[in-house]
Amino acid sequence: MIYRQYGKTNKNISVLGLGGMRFGNDEDYAVEVIRKANDLGINYFDTAPFYCSDRSEDIFGKAFKNMTGEFYVSTKSGIFNEPTADDVRRRIEKSLKRLGVNKIDFYHMWCIMDLRQYEKVMEQGGPYEGAVKAKEEGLIDHLVFSTHCSGNDIRKIVEDNSFEGVLLGYNVVNHPYRQEGIKAALENNIGVSVMNPLGGGLIPNSPEYFNFLKETEDETVCQSALRFILAEPGVTTALIGASSIKELEENIGVLNYPLVVSEAKRKEIKSNINESMDKLCTTCGYCLKCPKKIKINRYLEAYNMSIFKDHKEMEKYLEFLKTQGALKDEEVFAKDCIECGKCEELCTQKIPIIKRLKEISCLNPAH
Ligand code: SF4
Ligand code: SF4
Repeated sequence: MIYRQYGKTNKNISVLGLGGMRFGNDEDYAVEVIRKANDLGINYFDTAPFYCSDRSEDIFGKAFKNMTGEFYVSTKSGIFNEPTADDVRRRIEKSLKRLGVNKIDFYHMWCIMDLRQYEKVMEQGGPYEGAVKAKEEGLIDHLVFSTHCSGNDIRKIVEDNSFEGVLLGYNVVNHPYRQEGIKAALENNIGVSVMNPLGGGLIPNSPEYFNFLKETEDETVCQSALRFILAEPGVTTALIGASSIKELEENIGVLNYPLVVSEAKRKEIKSNINESMDKLCTTCGYCLKCPKKIKINRYLEAYNMSIFKDHKEMEKYLEFLKTQGALKDEEVFAKDCIECGKCEELCTQKIPIIKRLKEISCLNPAH
């Protein structure tokens, strides 16, 4: 394993961290995956309330009980559920209990979507105040933030100097639009952890499309995508969301290659990425509060295909989702959208969901 210092903290963390968002239903196996990660040198574990139907913190708590290696834990609270300082305090106490630790090493002001939300986090009596107080009392070690803002907005938050690190969604697909945030973090010497380094399931699910990432024949597309992130100056760690030991080992395999990307390859990657790719759905599911219960993430996953290739490919993908049971004939369809706008407010990629659903139903009247 390779370790990097996290900003100005004295903590050296593994260049691959384990994210706790994608564990399966078998909790004992998830515990095994976490312990295996630690055996392989991973010492940074990132979780949050509500991940994995609110089981993730408990799963980590079980794994930590008998874990022999050194480790750091990161968790979060968000403005939607914890809008006041007191709410944050209660959430921290709950997380400490569930994780079975005395102190949270990295505590995130979670999922800041834009500067307006950032201001709310920082308001008097708001979440930031609660977290600072908890830090003074020794309940948390480092106060950091997670965000889906643009690179320029991330720079503004970083330059306010209120946080010791940032967790941001960064991958080969959206890198031109977030890079400024990483540069700002580097200039200000704060830690950077990267979520979604594989674009959610986007890169592993479309290996043929992303084949251009590879620099050697024997590395996998996922390894190339991780190498690309870890070669970025300023990045401390990339969070992998392994749900199996096999996946974990494949991802750790990236460390068999030098963590660099040649200039020629960078140019090639840039030429394969266009602006619309910043608006690819990562299937994260944050938008799934639809009053009509439309499977937005599935429809938008199919729409990704029309960005990669064309509408025909999208149609094929819709059929494929049906064969997988992910979309069913009797369910609500894209055309049932009542344009309430709720999903767009929640979308981490700021995708024009309503417009896309309309386009899907126009092209495919069955949907
Ligand atoms: S805009 Fe449409 S898809 Fe989005 S939450 Fe409202 S009804 Fe659902
Ligand atoms: S539409 Fe947005 S919030 Fe919904 S799954 Fe896709 S990226 Fe996530």
